[in-house]
Amino acid sequence: ASLDPRTRELIDRRRRVLGPAYHLMYEKPLELVRGDGVYVYDTKGTRYLDMYNNVASVGHCHPRVVEAVSRQMSLINTHTRYLHDAVIGYAEDLIATFPDELTTAMFTCTGSEANDLALRIARHATGRQGVIVTESAYHGGTVDVAACSPSMGPASVRNAPWVRTVPAPDAYRVDGDLGTWFAEHVQTQIDDLQASGIGFATLLIDSIFASDGVLPEPTPFLKPADDAVHAAGGLLIADEVQPGFGRLGSSMWGFERHGLLPDIVTMGKPMGNGMPIAGLMMQGSLAEQFGRDLRYFNTFGGNPVTIAAAQAVLDVIRDEELVTNSSAMGARLVAGLRGVASEVESIGDVRGAGLFVGVEFVGPGGEPNPAEALRVVNAMRERGVLISATGCFGNTLKIRPPLVIGGEEVDLFVAELAGVLGIG
Ligand code: PMP
Repeated sequence: ASLDPRTRELIDRRRRVLGPAYHLMYEKPLELVRGDGVYVYDTKGTRYLDMYNNVASVGHCHPRVVEAVSRQMSLINTHTRYLHDAVIGYAEDLIATFPDELTTAMFTCTGSEANDLALRIARHATGRQGVIVTESAYHGGTVDVAACSPSMGPASVRNAPWVRTVPAPDAYRVDGDLGTWFAEHVQTQIDDLQASGIGFATLLIDSIFASDGVLPEPTPFLKPADDAVHAAGGLLIADEVQPGFGRLGSSMWGFERHGLLPDIVTMGKPMGNGMPIAGLMMQGSLAEQFGRDLRYFNTFGGNPVTIAAAQAVLDVIRDEELVTNSSAMGARLVAGLRGVASEVESIGDVRGAGLFVGVEFVGPGGEPNPAEALRVVNAMRERGVLISATGCFGNTLKIRPPLVIGGEEVDLFVAELAGVLGIG
């Protein structure tokens, strides 16, 4: 792609000082300087519809979040070794969004740390080390959690004999009863871990399978696997970093769609609308056992400023009825996309839950077509719409706009996609 001199210069300088490990999105990378609701703006003032950012979940620069953070920053910012009413009050409000059995919260700065802590808790409770994840999972970047993130490449999981993978429960590609099929794969890996002497500690799973290609249906296909986990004395960790906080529409938490009761739930990304707050929720007995034998301190995790952001996010989700909006706008989006899909050969499947939607591109024989997904992502960017592609084959558009999106923007997105596919 031909890049303007400013973009070229920033890419070169960035490469020089930050190295090659950080990727950029789009053939023509964007320099964004401002955001407002579902829109972001570049240096020239060009507006982009953000259909991808699940962090700014209540909308970019939501005034209630901005105000809460600025106010708290001007008062005090300490850590969890002092009493702070707002931190406790937020934990109480967050706990109230979970089933009764999940009683205790702990705070971190990132989803990676939350999963890392969850692994420590699960291993401590079971006395075993083994972890099962899906084949294209992403759970974060600490040493142990990177080993549980095969989507980062084989080097991630090498030297981690305690990780076992199972294929993703992909209803588009698997025939027969998906729940039974998935549970059998999980059982095989449980047995393998037990036989190896490593032992089985936990199934770590993202109930929307964000990096495996967005796999929402048919619920409750995770139930048989959950039964197998608990029958083996293992724990279920639900990674809600992507599906959590109302994104899936029907409820606050993704695991609820499958009728599950996880032992530990991890969360992050949208929790502070961009402020670095993440954490986990667990059953009380696990918290007691962990706290009896081990300590935890996280300098920035759950400090009053990030908690102020998190409280504002929770309040906005409630006051602006964003879970309901996610359902309604998600249904409108999927209906629009299915209309487009009925007119083009290249879309094999449209699937979603709330405002988490996948569009799978395939070739004439149903084979994955990542090249077309990539073309669409870049062509949409040229039209001022931001999305990306995901999945084991990289052929699925991942669509996750801020939850405040309205019908007009949903329709605009569908129209632009139709245009890119030549039917607009
Ligand atoms: N779990 C899932 C499902 C994620 O998508 C991510 C981030 N993409 C993480 C964990 C890690 O979160 P963080 O980047 O905040 O460490």
